[in-house]
Amino acid sequence: AGGRKVLAKADGLERGAVVFTSEEIAEATGGRVERGGEPGVIITDSRGARAGTWFLGIRGDRYDGRDFALDALARGCAGVVLETESEAEIQEFVSSMGDGANAGLVSVAGSSGGLATLHDLARSVRREYPGKVVGITGSCGKTTTRSMVSHLLRGMRGEGAVHETEGNNNNLIGVPLTILKLPSEAGFCVLELGMDRFGEIRQLGSICEPGVRVVTNVGLAHLEGVGGTIEGVADAKAELLEGARPGDVCVLNADDAHVSKMAPPRGVDRISFGRGEHCDVRILGSRASGEDGMRSRLTFSVRGKGEVLCEVCQPGHRNVAENAAAAVATLLALEVDFDLPTLRRGLSTFSSPLQVGRGRAREYFFQGRAIAVIDETYNSNPTSLLAALDTLCESGGEGSRRHAVLGDMLELGEASDHHHSVVLSRCLSDETIDTVTLVGDRFGDALERMRAEEGKSSAGERSVRWFSDPIEAASVVVAHCEDGDVVLVKGSRGMAMEGFFHSSVGLI
Ligand code: ATP
Ligand code: MG
Repeated sequence: AGGRKVLAKADGLERGAVVFTSEEIAEATGGRVERGGEPGVIITDSRGARAGTWFLGIRGDRYDGRDFALDALARGCAGVVLETESEAEIQEFVSSMGDGANAGLVSVAGSSGGLATLHDLARSVRREYPGKVVGITGSCGKTTTRSMVSHLLRGMRGEGAVHETEGNNNNLIGVPLTILKLPSEAGFCVLELGMDRFGEIRQLGSICEPGVRVVTNVGLAHLEGVGGTIEGVADAKAELLEGARPGDVCVLNADDAHVSKMAPPRGVDRISFGRGEHCDVRILGSRASGEDGMRSRLTFSVRGKGEVLCEVCQPGHRNVAENAAAAVATLLALEVDFDLPTLRRGLSTFSSPLQVGRGRAREYFFQGRAIAVIDETYNSNPTSLLAALDTLCESGGEGSRRHAVLGDMLELGEASDHHHSVVLSRCLSDETIDTVTLVGDRFGDALERMRAEEGKSSAGERSVRWFSDPIEAASVVVAHCEDGDVVLVKGSRGMAMEGFFHSSVGLI
């Protein structure tokens, strides 16, 4: 093995992208070389087509990428991978290529709209990859845990040691595309695996075959495609363990009732993290630290190494402790040799651009007043929102007021009304939260339901406002803030709560 030749950035293509010959494409996919062509890297967006690329169209919800194959040829790609069951379509494509063209064509029999072909190509890269693959799933904290694992590994083994998921590309297209850029000399490939419905994690697991399989937690997120219940979520996440083979390791959250019940197949080791006595990475304590409570101080006991005190520049110590413990347990599972001072240094320097929107705290100034904002605008669901409200309540100094700005939680299926009501009443019954500002129809409906039930005597009336968009909400919230106040802003991706920061009030 030893992996394939990869392209350097100097080639003008993505660094690390794996180069395929037409024969290699055919071999990986069970396809047929109709025309040879020069070798190239696989792309799925025809706008990136040029010499040195092979275009594979993927059928999506809105577009069928296969409609762009001729466009890719016109842009000079080295070849096209065409997944179809129709022999006539292949012949038609060959004739539209013209005789003089020297572009290649590999046909693959299939009806998955290109997805199965993409998966087969990624599988072939994975099989030749000599390093270690980590697959991380769970309802909350996947990106954070993955970034922490990668950051710690880079600190211990050097910058080039790690290839990781970019952004949040954790689905059936993003994961294989990430693998297609995997340089064989990276010792570690750290992947985030997400799902919308049953079967997806199983499929992703079979593509990336992680030697280390991590489940962070099971919560009320992405409910729609799994029957709307937390048990459904647990079953969907447990699919990651199914394909594990003897010698592989599972890293599991012992504090999570659903994850701790998951059973790795025979011969597969379990490494656990959590607050329990028997955990391999045990959280001995965690608390908010720093002047305004915006950092987290954690104490761990790491099996075989001893106790360590660390500080991470992120508020929300319970989440931070859980994600950091998962990351440290992953290092144990990878059998990376490290000492505790190195771990401590690694965690204290953790800061990822991905923290923006995922719990990063920032201080803003508005008309001479300092306002701390906890930016949770990347996403929201009942589990992570309740955790973020705890963080809000523990933040700020003496005299600080606390403001919650909450956008709707999406993708909750039938239970949506229920969860919005639960969160709303949690906010309104909590004396430590001074004002509540809601954005979106779902919270608006929940507020109306609550008002209808409670009549005019509602205690919550004191401080609830509703807006249809976050920009409007921001101007009102910020205008009411006093020096030292703390604001939590959180909502599902589709709510674009980052608009809060684009408001005309001019946060600086
Ligand atoms: P996605 O499903 O969108 O990919 P994710 O699982 O990658 O999400 P992150 O992006 O790491 O999760 O974090 C998103 C939000 O989830 C954070 O802003 C925070 O509110 C919450 N969160 C992070 N870690 C935890 C945790 N351990 N427990 C509960 N909530 C968490
Ligand atoms: Mg993520």
